Amino acid sequence: MNIIVLGAPGAGKGTQAARIVEAFGIPHISTGDLLRAAVQAGTELGKAAASYMDDGQLVPDDLVIGLVRERLSQSDTETGFILDGFPRNTAQAVALDTQLALLDKDIDHVLAIEVDPDLIVARISSRRSCPACGRITTAAEGAVCALCGATLVQRVDDREETVRTRLAVYAEQTEPLLDYYTRCGVLSVIDGDRSVDEVWADVRAALDDGGKS
Ligand code: ADP
Ligand code: ZN
Repeated sequence: MNIIVLGAPGAGKGTQAARIVEAFGIPHISTGDLLRAAVQAGTELGKAAASYMDDGQLVPDDLVIGLVRERLSQSDTETGFILDGFPRNTAQAVALDTQLALLDKDIDHVLAIEVDPDLIVARISSRRSCPACGRITTAAEGAVCALCGATLVQRVDDREETVRTRLAVYAEQTEPLLDYYTRCGVLSVIDGDRSVDEVWADVRAALDDGGKS
């Protein structure tokens, strides 16, 4: 099963993607995670991407498209994949279609998780992550990771002003993809302003619904 998860920053894409991984055993491909790993590793790609990310702007298409192309050619995507954070604009969606056609694959489901933008800023600016094990949590849960004890950090781009920029970029560049995937007949809109379990129940139902084929 090949899935795209769409949604504004802080909509809970990563959380639902983790549940899908658990339920279906397919790999989670997050361009945000891949880019952050490249920045951390100090690769040429990482160096080119870092300033865009810190400013909350999109990294240039050619860089991200190359990254996804490479990832999709790995053998663990044979039984399916979840794309999280990609595509983020029409050019990326078209490039993805081209790439999938070459690989003789198709998108089965696009899940659009919708949340009230006013809630997002509060949600994200209290988000913390563990640099050691990757666990995502909120500032209210303490300064160290409950799983491994490492000191939690805030992503540079999770600061309030940058979150607002990311929301504006989403509205302008990514939201048009909802129409694109509606036309393809694979879109399910999910109300994300609820508990993780309630959202998951809808995600599950949408995925069980068979999709395009
Ligand atoms: P979020 O969805 O919460 O904004 P991500 O981890 O998906 O966070 O992305 C963080 C940053 O990485 C984005 O603000 C952007 O700079 C960059 N990025 C991730 N995916 C893409 C993409 N498909 N195209 C361009 N830039 C991207
Ligand atoms: Zn940890």
